[in-house]
Amino acid sequence: MKIIRTLYDMTQYRVQQRDRGASVGFVPTMGALHEGHMSLVEQAVRENAVTVVSVFVNPIQFNNKEDYEKYPRTEEEDFKKLAAAGVDAVFAPTAEELYPEEGNNCKEYELGEVASVMEGKYRPGHFQGVAKVLDLLFRLIDPRRAYFGEKDFQQIAVVRNLLKSEGLHVEIVACPIKRASDGLALSSRNTRLTKEQRDVAPEIYQTLKYSVEYSKDHSVQATHDTVVEHLDAIPGMKVEYFEIVDARTLQPIDEWDESNWIVGCITVYCGDVRLIDNIAYRLPNKVDHAD
Ligand code: AMP
Repeated sequence: MKIIRTLYDMTQYRVQQRDRGASVGFVPTMGALHEGHMSLVEQAVRENAVTVVSVFVNPIQFNNKEDYEKYPRTEEEDFKKLAAAGVDAVFAPTAEELYPEEGNNCKEYELGEVASVMEGKYRPGHFQGVAKVLDLLFRLIDPRRAYFGEKDFQQIAVVRNLLKSEGLHVEIVACPIKRASDGLALSSRNTRLTKEQRDVAPEIYQTLKYSVEYSKDHSVQATHDTVVEHLDAIPGMKVEYFEIVDARTLQPIDEWDESNWIVGCITVYCGDVRLIDNIAYRLPNKVDHAD
C-alpha cells in the first residue's frame, strides 16, 4: 500500500492509474478507523480496480476547537488495517499541505436546504468545511465511486448537492450503519467514552428501536417526545436534537403518511462526547439516496 502525503504525489498516482485505465473507488475518513469505516473500505476494494482511502482530520469542519483537538488519532494502526484490507493507496496530508492558502478559503458552496437543518443548524460551518475538503479530494483523486456511511445520513444528501452544484461526476455509494453487539453505532468518538458512559450509550439505539414500535400507534410528535424524554432522563445524557424527517428533503414531517421514506436523526451528548445515530420509520421498497 502506498502512503501519500503530498498533493503532488497524489496527482502523480492518479495520473498513473488513469493511464492504465483503472477506475478508482474512494473512501474519505478522518481516521481512528473501526469496523464501520472498514465495511466501506471492504466494499470499495470489492467493487473497484483501485481503492484510495483518505485519512485526514479536517480542521475546518469542526466548529468546536476542543472536539478537534481531542479527536482520536491512530495513524499507524489505521495504515495497518487499510493495508490488510487490500487498499492500494492512502492519502494522509497535513492541513498545511491541503490548505496552503489559509484565510483564503472563503468560497461558499451551494448545498441547499438539506444542509441548513440538524447538523447544519447545530454545527455552523460544518458542512461548508466538509464541502471544501471533499471538493478538493474529489478533484484530486477523481474517483468513479465514493463510499459514505448512513450513520452520517445528512452528510450523504449534502454531498449529493455538492456534486450537483460543482458539476462533479462521482457515484455515491451509501453503506449501512455498523453497530457494536449492544447496538451502539460504531464511532471514532466512542473511544472517548468513560466506562460508565459506554455502558449507557447503547440506550440511544435501543430507544430509537423502541420508538419504531411506539410509532405504530402514536403520532410523530408523541414518538419524538418519548425518545427525548427517555434519553434526557438518563444521568449524563442530553439530547441535542431529535428530528423525524423526510429522508429525501430532511425537513421535519408532521404526519406518518407524508412520505414513504422517513428517518429519525438524533444527536446526543454523553458527557462531553457528541454521538449521532438514526433509524428508519418508513422505508421505500428500493432506497435511493439520489431520489
Ligand atoms: P469519519 O471518519 O467519521 O468522517 O467517517 C468516515 C466515513 O465512515 C463516513 O462516511 C461515515 O459515515 C462512515 N462511518 C463512520 N461510522 C460508521 C458506522 N458505524 N457504520 C457505517 N459507516 C460509518
